[in-house]
Amino acid sequence: TNKDIFLRELISNASDALDKLYYRSLTDKNVKVKKDDLYIRLDIDNDKRTLTITDTGCGMTREELESNLGTIAKSGTLAFKEGMSKDEKVDVIGQFGVGFYSAFMVSDKITVTSKSIDSDEAYTWESKGADGYTIKKAKKSDIGTKIVLHIKEDTDEEDYCKYLDEYQIKGLVKKYSDYISFPIKMEVTHHELKDEKKHEYEDKKEVETLNSMVPIWKKSKSEVEDADYENFYMDKFNDYDKPLKIITSSVEGMCSYKSLLFIPSHAPYDFYTQDYQKGLSLYANGVMIMEKCADLLPDYFSFVKGVVDSEDLSLNISREILQESHNLKLIAKNIESKIRKELEEMLKSDRENYISFFKTFGVQLKYGVYNNYGADKDKLKDLVMFYSSKHERLVTLKEYVDNMPEGQDKIYYASGASIEKINALPQVEQVKDKDYDILYLTDYVDEFCVTAISEYEEKKFANVSDGSLDL
Ligand code: ADP
Repeated sequence: TNKDIFLRELISNASDALDKLYYRSLTDKNVKVKKDDLYIRLDIDNDKRTLTITDTGCGMTREELESNLGTIAKSGTLAFKEGMSKDEKVDVIGQFGVGFYSAFMVSDKITVTSKSIDSDEAYTWESKGADGYTIKKAKKSDIGTKIVLHIKEDTDEEDYCKYLDEYQIKGLVKKYSDYISFPIKMEVTHHELKDEKKHEYEDKKEVETLNSMVPIWKKSKSEVEDADYENFYMDKFNDYDKPLKIITSSVEGMCSYKSLLFIPSHAPYDFYTQDYQKGLSLYANGVMIMEKCADLLPDYFSFVKGVVDSEDLSLNISREILQESHNLKLIAKNIESKIRKELEEMLKSDRENYISFFKTFGVQLKYGVYNNYGADKDKLKDLVMFYSSKHERLVTLKEYVDNMPEGQDKIYYASGASIEKINALPQVEQVKDKDYDILYLTDYVDEFCVTAISEYEEKKFANVSDGSLDL
């Protein structure tokens, strides 16, 4: 279903090979490489219908070509598919990507020429996918791997030619591999004005590095300006507004990860529709493995956007396995509590901003209180606010209880369509006469919310509008 990911897979293999060679150079005196010579290069040839991915990494020996690329079983794909039903099998490659073989989703022939750091000879591996492969001696002077994908002909359903389009490839690199730590280079055509008077243009070709290389979330907070975070947010999550709050964290321990989270300043246009998908972008050491990992966010924080990057997750992991991942659960738990603490802090020290946040996303928190039979109510009860008749603004339950006069033993509330309508209720007048504050519930979730909380600091809620009140 998502053929695009083949490029990410090949680029991340190339990046691994570069890492391996670099590591060798650090540990083996006989291996000399300069960091500048480590790169990935993409080339498009429209006439030949090929997309070529070249890396200057460690390369593969004949035996490695054979065992690594030789059989689909080797990459774990077959074993993985064996355990699945027929319907699931169809989807598996497209959804998760299973390494090198995903390139056959878009290619009808793949030619890999490689020279290993451990061999004097180079070899070419070639396959049309289904029926076997050939390996031949080849000529290649530099160490590294060159993968030529012969792109499939277009069909009614699929325009494979997009993988031969400079602009599209650039977009895919930006989307999936921006943070690969080696440069990904490609010759890019610029349409430049040659003669202003004659309105003449010419195409200039120039080799560009397509990726930004250092993920912003891996930089230490002191290196990054708020404006950088904001631009990243607006760029990555397609928002025209700055985020209301930026939350960074760097956790070391059982499962190490870095996260960069954002609370938007307004609800996304589809937030209250069925189409909205919550989730954080999940990276395994700089490589994106899932664009929206829903398991990282509880529903009540579904408005949070951001990225999580962990060294302790493997790249080729299926969605099912990921859901069971202990590390992922640990990260999700930490993230939930981090967001909560940040909101609590915002409420304490930046009330104006918090109120703006609450007016936008408060409904989501109130849903959270009563969802799951109130399982999360204790986590959220100090984050919800209601309109106070006495203060004529939003207050927390804690503030309400702290301000209760001597003799008041209940938290009074009244429901209605608007503040004006509630003000007009005769019962409200009675309570106000006693100098008691009343919480006005105007959202339809409010009443479910207070019912779920049921009591705060041992004070029960009492409904003013329900006639049975005994003052
Ligand atoms: P995975 O990356 O999950 O191991 P792949 O099918 O993508 O599975 O690749 C299989 C193996 O082939 C890799 O583990 C690596 O050893 C080798 N390989 C793939 N691409 C390259 C490359 N560009 N350079 C060197 N080795 C590679």
